[in-house]
Amino acid sequence: MSENWNKRTKLVHGGSRRSQYNEVSEAIFLTQGFVYETAEQAEARFIETGPDEFIYARYGNPTVAMFEERIALLEGAEDAFATASGMAAVSGALTSLLKAGDHVVSAKALFGSCLYILENILARYGVEVSFVDGTDLDQWRAAMRPDTKAVFFESMSNPTLEVIDIEAVCNIAHEVGATVVVDNVFSTPVFSRAIEQGADVVVYSATKHIDGQGRVLGGVVLGSKDYIRGTLEPYMKHTGGSLSPFSAWTLLKGLETIDLRVKAQAESALKIAEALDGHPQLERMIYPGLPKHAQNALVQRQLGGQGGTVLSLDLKGGKEAAFKFLNALSIPVISNNLGDAKSIATHPATTTHQRLPDEQKNELGITPGLVRFSVGLEDSDDLIADLKAALEAAQ
Ligand SMILES: *Cc1c(COP(=O)(O)O)cnc(C)c1O
Repeated sequence: MSENWNKRTKLVHGGSRRSQYNEVSEAIFLTQGFVYETAEQAEARFIETGPDEFIYARYGNPTVAMFEERIALLEGAEDAFATASGMAAVSGALTSLLKAGDHVVSAKALFGSCLYILENILARYGVEVSFVDGTDLDQWRAAMRPDTKAVFFESMSNPTLEVIDIEAVCNIAHEVGATVVVDNVFSTPVFSRAIEQGADVVVYSATKHIDGQGRVLGGVVLGSKDYIRGTLEPYMKHTGGSLSPFSAWTLLKGLETIDLRVKAQAESALKIAEALDGHPQLERMIYPGLPKHAQNALVQRQLGGQGGTVLSLDLKGGKEAAFKFLNALSIPVISNNLGDAKSIATHPATTTHQRLPDEQKNELGITPGLVRFSVGLEDSDDLIADLKAALEAAQ
């Protein structure tokens, strides 16, 4: 029945479990463990844990289970496992699947820590990774091998907002039997239809839009019951990347309002993109929701035309202009989160992607003048006035 609810109903009521007190707001079960009535009950629970039974919070907890169920309903996935951060989700989703000798194909435009896992960590354990330009389907086709076990990409890349064709890449990957893991943060769970479009595993940093108010770290991996309970859960519960019950509660509350927040933020992002389009101080502006964006046809097909809550501005005058611009902003904060109620401006070349050699930054379009702008819930007219004034100041 809850599968048939519309999105906002799922987000408010999905996965709720009430204790004997019948509380309205979800309870925080801030406990590491659970008491057994008898030794026999403990034995039985370790043999088989029922759907409403718990052993130890690293394995599962009622508040965490409510969050997992609610987000799985939203995404249309059979099951979900919540993790301590987005990176625990990305690393767990891949490492639980892979072993030495396996081959992975990945898009090269990735969030800095994702790149570190794909470039550095997996290689140390004998996994070979081939990198492709995620927007070029011929490169995906050419990179697939009979031993390709997994495919990884960010469906909208950070920070240049390249959109990758989920359906097309999944079709190519499935021909060799590879499991497709999609990091879907920038597409957001509100606009995503990744499972329906063929993704086997979808990963979110819940720190971003799901919390959306900058309070906690969290992550989640979604997929089939087989993958989540058979492959991922044994890995996560023994390696320790589980989500805390307090963070799960915060994220449950975030889900109640995510549809309202993300839609308002995306609407504001489009208004800002329209207002800054062609500004003389900008070398380029990237917002996938603008009809003139090179990939807008794909954005229409994959995301219902929604360009998300982030735009990237490339200022004329390089790093000096970008820094002047950041320092002149009065409403947005300079930080490195995104999807937050507060607008956030980031200079990727010197922060999130600082580690990369200049050559790699160039290849990924992370120019010295590039500023990533995450649109918050402030009044869009105020933001536009502030952004325009800061662009003036950057001249
Ligand atoms: C933030 C982010 C992550 C990592 O999430 P954390 O919660 O910070 O660990 C992974 N992928 C993408 C695309 C992100 O933006």
